[in-house]
Formats: sequence, C-alpha cells, structure tokens
Amino acid sequence: MANVLINGYGSIGKRVADAVAKQDDMKVIGVTKTKPDFEARMAVEKGYKLFAAIPERKHLFEEAGIPVEGTLDDIIEDADIVVDGAPKKIGKANLENVYKKHGVKAIIQGGEKAGDAQDSFNSLWSYERCYGKDYIRLVSCNTTGLCRSMYAINSVADILKARIVLIRRAADPNDIKTGPVNAIVPNPVSVPSHHGPDVVSVIPELDGKIMTSAVIVPTTLMHMHSIMVETSGTTRDEIIDALAKTPRILTVKASEGFDSTAKIIEYARDLGRSRYDLNEIAVWEESVNVVDNEVYMMQAIHQESDVIPENVDCIRAMLEMESDNLKSIEKTNKAMGLIK
Ligand code: NAP
Repeated sequence: MANVLINGYGSIGKRVADAVAKQDDMKVIGVTKTKPDFEARMAVEKGYKLFAAIPERKHLFEEAGIPVEGTLDDIIEDADIVVDGAPKKIGKANLENVYKKHGVKAIIQGGEKAGDAQDSFNSLWSYERCYGKDYIRLVSCNTTGLCRSMYAINSVADILKARIVLIRRAADPNDIKTGPVNAIVPNPVSVPSHHGPDVVSVIPELDGKIMTSAVIVPTTLMHMHSIMVETSGTTRDEIIDALAKTPRILTVKASEGFDSTAKIIEYARDLGRSRYDLNEIAVWEESVNVVDNEVYMMQAIHQESDVIPENVDCIRAMLEMESDNLKSIEKTNKAMGLIK
C-alpha cells in the first residue's frame, strides 16, 4: 500500500486525494492547506488528516477550531510520494526546497515548466519513461487532452503536421480573480502558444510538427480544441474507431443533445459525478472528418479533472507498482468509475 501525501488541497489536490482514496493499492496519509477555510474544514470532515503546508500558519488552524495534525515537516517522511497541488511556480519551489531536501518522490503539476522535473507524464505516452523516476511533472489539462487525441490518431496513421486552436476557459468556477468577462483574448497573442512545445515534452516525435495558438473566452466550464492533423493516410471510420479504443476519450454526438460544453457538463452532472467532473475528454463525433488525409475534429476538456486519473497512474509508475501502463489505466478507471 503506497503512502501518498497531497501537498496543496486545492482544485487539483482535492480531486487527486479522492481518486487516490478510491484505489486499493494506495492511500492518502495527509493533505495540506495554508488557510483554515471551509475547504480545510471539509477535508477533515471527509476523514483526511490535515497538516499546515506552512509551519508558521499552524496556529491559524488551531485558532479557527480546525483540527490539524501538525505541519508538512511532521508527515513528509512517512510519504512514499508527494503529489504537489500548490499554485503555479510554488510547485517548483516545493520540489527544490522541500521534496529534494527530504529525499521524497514527487509529482508537480502542469503550471510548472517541462525542465523543472525529470520528465513529463502522460499515461499513454510516457508511463515507461517515468517508471521509477523521482520527480515528474504531470502536464496540464490541455496537454493531457491533446496527448489523448494524438494517441488515437497516431494509432492509425503517422502524424505529419498538427495544427490546433485552443479556446480556453477564462477561469475555474471558484475563481473570482481572472477574466475576461466580455471579450475574446488572444493568449498568448504570439503564435505558437506554449501548448505545442508542452505536447512535445511528452511526445518528442512531434517536435517540429505541432503548432498551437490559443484564445481565452468568458466561460468556466471547459476548454475546447479545434484540431487539424495532416497524416500519412487514414479514413473517418478509422479515426472514429481509434477514438473509441483510446482510453479516457468519450465520443459524443450533437444529434443526441451534446450541442455545447454546457450540455457535456450537464451530462457529468446527470451521471452524478462528484464536482461534475468529466475525467474523460469529449470528442464531437460529427466534427470528425478526413479530407485529403487531413484529420479534423473538435474536443472539449474539463480542465479541473482530466489530469486526475493521470496523477494516479503516475504514482504507480514512479513507485514501480505496475509496469504495464494499460493495466494501470484500467485499474484507475475502474476504481474511479470512468466510462467508455
Ligand atoms: P488552487 O485551486 O489554487 O489550489 C492550490 C492549493 O495549494 C490550495 O489548496 C492552497 O492552499 C495550496 N497552497 C498554497 N501555497 C502552498 C504552499 N506553499 N505549499 C503547499 N500548498 C500550498 O490551484 P489548482 O488550480 O489546483 O492548481 C494547482 C496546480 O495544478 C497548478 O500547477 C496548475 O497550473 C495545475 N493545474 C490546474 C488545473 C485547473 O484547471 N485548476 C488543471 C490542470 C493543472 P490554501 O487554499 O489553503 O492557500
């Protein structure tokens, strides 16, 4: 049974904690927060042991009447691995100043840069490369989604060129600090965006072949990608079949009512998914087309949750608990109740 510590119980950290708690080969030994807010209280109510991420703030939890077991320093050496869920840039600082100091394996998230860890993880592409490694970066929600669809296409044809436009959600639903409220913002305004190079950090074979541009729009529900991939040769039927066979991809039909990201999220709600998470990415079947060997499709990414099962697989790879990536994927999916 692997001991997993979640350092940073926020949007990603709390979801990883719940996903780890559902597995039969790993357990959550603690979660950390810096602020004694309702999320800290709820972590304790759920049965997680709570620790102060910053030792000097431990008294704030005590003063707020939230039971805290100690500080990060008190628990870190009991961990076989730490999943860092701290905000962008703090993950890297934690890796350098805390995890390496204590000699504990760690996963940092997609807000950090590719060079900050030993490698970049995706369950389909780089499980073997990350096997037994000490410090790994779990790539962002967008990169994770793109890696899944590139895997599907690559399973039936060589990818010669990939061109992707990312339409990004402005903020997570709980975020009141970012926008826009009423605009479309090229972000970055320069092309390519960082997403292409990030995909290459997982799939080096795509170096020089993938270009991405990105805009931000006023929505909190999901990201969307418009994908154009020149291939060595394939058909629409082959791509539909490949999408159906690729783990953690759902194909949805507008003709069945999935006419927007809003309806996809409604589906996740109707499934009774915790926090309306859709860990699978959704590809619109009607959008899949092949013209002159060029594949076109549109997909939607639930930014807060597609990386969660990948974190579970990454733990198994880094702790050498399962050498076969497909077996880990299947085990994780089953425990989390993912659908195909
Ligand atoms: P978040 O919701 O802001 O949560 C961050 C958590 O880290 C909070 O629980 C915070 O605790 C805690 N924290 C703050 N300072 C810390 C420190 N020094 N040490 C340990 N924990 C600390 O952030 P998030 O959205 O989950 O993002 C976390 C990482 O995942 C980032 O790299 C992000 O780019 C990446 N990511 C995010 C998404 C997404 O859509 N949200 C998707 C994929 C990847 P307090 O609240 O108590 O201060």
